[in-house]
Amino acid sequence: MNQQRRTFIIYAATASSISAAAAFAQKATPELVKESDANAVALGYSSDGSKTDVKKYPQYAAGQSCSGCTLYAGTSKDASAACPVFGGKFVSGKGWCSAWVKKA
Ligand code: SF4
Repeated sequence: MNQQRRTFIIYAATASSISAAAAFAQKATPELVKESDANAVALGYSSDGSKTDVKKYPQYAAGQSCSGCTLYAGTSKDASAACPVFGGKFVSGKGWCSAWVKKA
């Protein structure tokens, strides 16, 4: 194998690896909080706030959701976003937990 061909193969393999890594990064979805996670259970997190047990969490009011919480790192248009209460894992915009604080 001559030097030019070897160099071409190395460049092609490198470019292919970079493309694969970029594609993986784009497809990688953020980790979502599971309702079964210990801290989610402790805070009464539900990915659908309307299903909150109001007997257990009487502070919940209809219409409250993560997207309206000051701790939600996304906008009201984002289906999910990071929440610092859960270490930056993503929560559903429709979710709710007992740490909810109205967004200013
Ligand atoms: S702190 Fe706010 S954004 Fe985070 S899970 Fe609870 S209600 Fe949702």
